[in-house]
Amino acid sequence: MATFQQFAQTCQALSQTQSRLQMAEVAGGFLAQLDLDQAEAAARFMIGRALPVGDEARLNLSGRAVWRVAAELTGAADRGEDIFAEAVDFGDAVEIVMRLRDTEPAPTLSIAEVAARMREIAAAQGRHARRRKLDLLRGLFIRATALEAKYLAKILIREMRHGMSEGVMLDAIAYATGAPIADVRRINMMQGDPGRVLRVLRGDAAAPQSGGLAMRPLKPMLAQPADTVADAFAMLGPELALEHKLDGARVQIHGAAGHIRIFSRRLNEITPSLPEIAELMAARIPNRSFIFDGEVVAVDRQGNPLAFQELMRRFRRIREVERLREQSPVRLFLFDVLGLDDELLIDREYRDRFAILQQTAHAAGLELAGRCLPANLNEGEQFYAAARAAGYEGVMAKRLDSRYSPGVRGRGWLKIKGARTLDLVIVAADWGYGRRHGWLSNYHLAARSGAADQFAEVGKTFKGLTDDQFREMTERLLALKTAQRGGTVYVRPAVVVEVAYSDIQRSPQYECGMALRFARIVRLREDKIPADADSIESIGREFERQILRTPPQPG
Ligand code: AMP
Repeated sequence: MATFQQFAQTCQALSQTQSRLQMAEVAGGFLAQLDLDQAEAAARFMIGRALPVGDEARLNLSGRAVWRVAAELTGAADRGEDIFAEAVDFGDAVEIVMRLRDTEPAPTLSIAEVAARMREIAAAQGRHARRRKLDLLRGLFIRATALEAKYLAKILIREMRHGMSEGVMLDAIAYATGAPIADVRRINMMQGDPGRVLRVLRGDAAAPQSGGLAMRPLKPMLAQPADTVADAFAMLGPELALEHKLDGARVQIHGAAGHIRIFSRRLNEITPSLPEIAELMAARIPNRSFIFDGEVVAVDRQGNPLAFQELMRRFRRIREVERLREQSPVRLFLFDVLGLDDELLIDREYRDRFAILQQTAHAAGLELAGRCLPANLNEGEQFYAAARAAGYEGVMAKRLDSRYSPGVRGRGWLKIKGARTLDLVIVAADWGYGRRHGWLSNYHLAARSGAADQFAEVGKTFKGLTDDQFREMTERLLALKTAQRGGTVYVRPAVVVEVAYSDIQRSPQYECGMALRFARIVRLREDKIPADADSIESIGREFERQILRTPPQPG
């Protein structure tokens, strides 16, 4: 049995390694020595996932709760501020506090035991769930060395991502199993979880590579932005469909013999937040297995769509779902089918998938997103104008012959939105003054830049949040703090916000040479991770287009 201490030491070595190749070798070498169950858990732990994709939401432990359990064990509950000021990150703070104990226990935890405890913490639901979760957590921390506690904390709050991206983990799995990296990536598209990828590659018969609908989430297919319907025709060719772009939450709905599981865009299971959708699907398609892709929208009592924020309340207040179900009903619109009757359909063309979707949804009385097959650009533009006039966010353009590529932002789907906004990542924040004293309230916004996990600043804003949101954001960012210089707190990139702006300016202030003017946060994108943010390249392209659009200044 490999000890959790060995795992923690490997992570420590990884955190001191810069080269991607070396990281893959260190991590892959460690995984290769473990039996399959422990390797599966360790692969997840290394990228900061406590549980298989889809199950994590059930852990339901905040950074604050984790900190309190550690601090109370060492009688240092009132020293948080000093320790956080000294620590480089959350895991470091937990390690420092755990070193205050008089004696350190010998390392006895195994990787398998830690994995089992994580499952138990997630399984604790219903009355007294919170107390049970905290007891289990305390049980783990009592037995942990300070180094083990550091990595337990990092896994629990998903801080590991920073050190080990999913991409490096796939390289490590290729190294550990000897499989070609292209195969590892393809299997990951299907499985969406490095632990399961290892299982498939090590030849575990219980893990299907394809075929059979296993009720496990697939990564959703993503779209690239396009400015106009004419651009979409130029990029996709004339063989395309246009669909209403609904402003709600992406859902992937799995069903088998009336048993339903619903997953979010980030592959968390959200069935408990959407009981009426689960009931609807179970009632309408009771005897078949299926995977549908669609959007859930909050609606008023007349069934008219409401703002996205309304829907997000559902996901945050899981305990109040029954009340919210009455107050803010939801409506489901399907737009794709990824599997039906035990057959995976993702390699079929979209035109065929849509035909199957239409027939199935029609027979079951389920709604589809509004759609048209434009015969020419003019018809396409009319559909777009009508969609905007009806209040939709825009339209999606989809190539009729495109396959469903899980997790890929390819050339199959384009999103055409009216107002241009960018999805950016908060990488730092300034302490506010005056009315905003005590809050981290001026946010440094960054776009993806080159390699995975790299971000470049393009602007700052303190506009767009309510007082409550400032308070919540301050707490969230402090848990992600990596350093502080002057009045600026630097944080691990984790929070994605949608930002509106007036235009892009040339700017020597930022390394990328561009800055957003009059940036304002439109909404928090809880459904997105930093890898989904817009890139410096796409902002650069937008900057060029803006120059083309601007008439020359007289004189
Ligand atoms: P964005 O969130 O701006 O990147 O736009 C992509 C998202 O639009 C998808 O992840 C879906 O949640 C949503 N969406 C709304 N309507 C559709 C549709 N008809 N087809 C695909 N995605 C849609």
